[in-house]
Amino acid sequence: MRTLVWFRGKDLRLSDHAPLRAALSLGEVVPLFVLDPFFFAAERARELPHRIQFLLESLRSLEQNIAAVGSRLLCVPGRSVELLPKLVRDWRVDRVVAQRWVEPFGRARDAEIARQLAVPFELYEGETLRPPGSVLSGGGEPYSVFTPFARAFVRGFAPGAPLPKPQRLPLPPADCRAEFVSVPTLAELEIEDNPRLVAGGERAARTRMQAFLANAARHYDTDRDRMDKDGTSRLSQDLKFGTLSVRTLWTRVLEELNAPKAVAAFCNELLWREFSHDVLWNRPHVLRRPFRPEFEGFPWSRDEPAWRSWVTGRTGYPIVDAAQRQLLAEGFVHNRARMITASFLTKHLMIDYRRGEAHFLKYLTDGDWAQNNVGWQWSAGTGCDAQPYFRIFNPVTQGKRFDPDGEYVKRWVPELRNVPARHVHAPWTLASPPTDYPAPIVEHAWARTRYLQVAQSFLRRDRVR
Ligand code: FAD
Repeated sequence: MRTLVWFRGKDLRLSDHAPLRAALSLGEVVPLFVLDPFFFAAERARELPHRIQFLLESLRSLEQNIAAVGSRLLCVPGRSVELLPKLVRDWRVDRVVAQRWVEPFGRARDAEIARQLAVPFELYEGETLRPPGSVLSGGGEPYSVFTPFARAFVRGFAPGAPLPKPQRLPLPPADCRAEFVSVPTLAELEIEDNPRLVAGGERAARTRMQAFLANAARHYDTDRDRMDKDGTSRLSQDLKFGTLSVRTLWTRVLEELNAPKAVAAFCNELLWREFSHDVLWNRPHVLRRPFRPEFEGFPWSRDEPAWRSWVTGRTGYPIVDAAQRQLLAEGFVHNRARMITASFLTKHLMIDYRRGEAHFLKYLTDGDWAQNNVGWQWSAGTGCDAQPYFRIFNPVTQGKRFDPDGEYVKRWVPELRNVPARHVHAPWTLASPPTDYPAPIVEHAWARTRYLQVAQSFLRRDRVR
């Protein structure tokens, strides 16, 4: 039996890799990665600089890890829908195995490939802890609110032990020939190396997990919201690209973390990840339309100067500006800072959440269609928040509470480095504010009232009609 193991950018590891395990038990194994010109062309790659940098590093690491156990990752350029059927024929492959994708475009691709292949195409779970779409209410419906979803999720949940990394892999058969290429370099894709990004690859992911378990994890429940501390795992890009399986992380946290509150808080976040994927699986239209249909046609503002101030981190609200600058510089933003800046864009500035969502997706290393969409729609009030549109974050009080000494702000907004902590989240309250930092582009109380009035009258319109 000759099995083609198709690695596809969300499973860049050897441990806990169900398709690989399934292939190994049955003879010849052909590990493949398809370099789609859509992503691996300079023009497109420059659009996603951080994700491409992390992906290339992780791919190179996968290539080395496969070589270290005796085999070779075959990299072939082309569009998978055309290439896969051809390779399967040319290489006389008996079956193709891969990890399932949740995104609608991945599902459409897989359906098309399955239609074209004359051999079985088997999809294995691994992106999420439970198969997407498998958590349903008593009435057989998908959940639309997190808490009941999480309760139903954990009922009877037993993820099973993560699969071990193979010790040996056979070399791909010699008759598997094609126009092989190497993993491109950043320079070939005309992307400048960003040394501030976290390192890619399975080993780096495991090192991060170890460091987290040994340190910050114990205080996760109290520190996770603090923007000035390294209180979270920084594993989101690893879960996204599959350099670490979510099952491995879940299992290790339960086994090694002897701090029940921290375990509960961390697992709850992994369940948010599950919920995001479940929402996208059951309601793929959320990538285009509001989760709450009553927000369809909402009168978002087209204030271009305000948009530019937000994107460049010059709104005059330090916590918002710190988040925006961290995004561009590091490809990462702390979760609370994401919530504050997303709320600010959609409520204070009333700019369409889809613009913010696309901007985040472009620069986040962990940019993920499911989690980013749920995060943005939650923040904009158009999504699955149990307290929807009237929750409006106050950037000043949020800053004071979760960055009490202004350390996070000062790291990213050097203009405020010398401002005393009690003024750092509202520098306009100083007798002489720094001249190189902008005044707030909107006043908080005014923006809050404007948003509430517009939202209330918009949502009332259906009832009035
Ligand atoms: P930790 O606190 O260590 O959490 C562990 C893991 O749980 C994370 O790696 C992540 O996979 C998951 N997780 C944590 N918080 C959430 C959450 N609120 N929703 C869903 N999953 C969560 N996360 C992404 O991975 N990709 C995105 O594109 C993304 N976009 C977001 C956009 C907005 C507007 C918001 C509010 C949140 C977004 N998140 C996204 C969720 C969250 O901010 C990040 O997962 C988290 O900040 C990553 O840091 P960490 O790995 O240190 O998280």
